[in-house]
Amino acid sequence: MIVMKFGGTSVRDAAAMDRASEIVAERIDRAPLVVVSALAGVTSGLLEIARRIATGQWENAVSLYDEIRLRHLGMADGLEPDLDELRGVLERAGSDGRMTPAAEDRIASFGERLSSRIFASKLSGRVPAAHIDARGCLITDERFTRAVPNVGETARRLEEIVRPRVGEGSAVVMAGYIGSTPSGETSTLGRGGSDYSATLFGACLGAEEVQIWTDVDGMMTADPRVVPEARTIPRISFDEAAELAYFGAKVLHPLTLVPAVEKGIPVRILNAARPDGHGTVIAPGEGAGDSPVKSFACKRGITAVTVTSSRMLMAHGFLRALFEVFDTHETAVDVVATSEVSVSLTLDDERRLEPILEELGTLGTVTIERGLALVCLVGADLKNRRGIAAKVFGCLDDVNIRMISQGASNINLTFVVGEDHADVVVRRLHDAFFEGPEPDDTLRRPG
Ligand code: ADP
Ligand code: ASP
Ligand code: MG
Repeated sequence: MIVMKFGGTSVRDAAAMDRASEIVAERIDRAPLVVVSALAGVTSGLLEIARRIATGQWENAVSLYDEIRLRHLGMADGLEPDLDELRGVLERAGSDGRMTPAAEDRIASFGERLSSRIFASKLSGRVPAAHIDARGCLITDERFTRAVPNVGETARRLEEIVRPRVGEGSAVVMAGYIGSTPSGETSTLGRGGSDYSATLFGACLGAEEVQIWTDVDGMMTADPRVVPEARTIPRISFDEAAELAYFGAKVLHPLTLVPAVEKGIPVRILNAARPDGHGTVIAPGEGAGDSPVKSFACKRGITAVTVTSSRMLMAHGFLRALFEVFDTHETAVDVVATSEVSVSLTLDDERRLEPILEELGTLGTVTIERGLALVCLVGADLKNRRGIAAKVFGCLDDVNIRMISQGASNINLTFVVGEDHADVVVRRLHDAFFEGPEPDDTLRRPG
């Protein structure tokens, strides 16, 4: 079997759904499990409804609900019950007068609930296809809005509920992004989480391949919205792609590759608008290429926190105390730089920033800087090549570089710049490392 995940733009309207279901129908002999995102923009719309309810703008919330309702109705029969249920959920949240993360997830889940039903109905016009509610299979903890899957329980349920229905000549369609807690409350994996659902399902069911169908030709040498000349990367290793996803290459949710790596399942990124392309294959050991750098990624909205204390001098236990603060508040740290008397760290999740700053205050003087971006270059061969840092920083001699980390994994170099400079920095680096004509390899298409 294979898993085929379709992102929001690939199912944005009836025509896109038709194209996507044709792509699945053509591969029906590979026993596809289809994982579907919400129609493009719908998750953001639903979260905006939640925000309007939380801020007392009930009328505005309802008008956005009406738009979303209209957009879906008519794409398939039988959507009214879900749309009415959504309206009921909104009314209850409105009368409670407050929005909890659990209510937010319940509201956001309707995007995938609706899109997966529409997809299943379109697909069953072509080939035998069953819709299965992902919430009965993907079991998570209760960290609503960024729930963590219980892999054992999810595998058990997939085996029981999905396995008997996947087979050559028929397809199963499920929603990405959504799951439920053991007590049956709806949860989500966080924005972009359908990629993660797809690899998780694939790993649990032992798929031969997971295909991520999106709106670009594959994983590219930079975000094509920032660098229009970016090239498609034909092959890339799990390690390299995982670093890129983690450091901001939006084409994959940061955790997408974790289940695939564990089971060694290749992940292929493909363009739903050009289904005959070769795409990008992410697989073990797809190492070196012509350029020492495979790709550049960039993560915006970064905050740097610096703790300065003379207690650090010659003392041990300081870093442990510092990291414990972040651990207690379940906040991930990306880049760390230390000097004799200070430590700087970056984070992109500010939800717990206030209590974190308060506790860090007991360790030393704390300063924060917002509006930063992480720029990351990744390449399996970086460690073996000389002069990379000189080339990188040589073309950025007029840019203020705040922190530098030569990745502990040996395959990345990450540094921090002001957010306003991020695009220019990525474009300049791309020019410096990918000048000249594109190698033939990237143009290759299968026979
Ligand atoms: P989907 O809705 O299919 O999940 P996303 O919008 O989440 O699609 O991801 C695809 C987008 O990721 C592309 O349109 C592109 O702008 C962006 N992107 C960022 N970095 C990269 C990269 N290195 N390679 C390809 N796409 C990238
Ligand atoms: N629909 C969700 C989002 O927009 C999940 C996804 O598309 O992967 O974040
Ligand atoms: Mg995505």
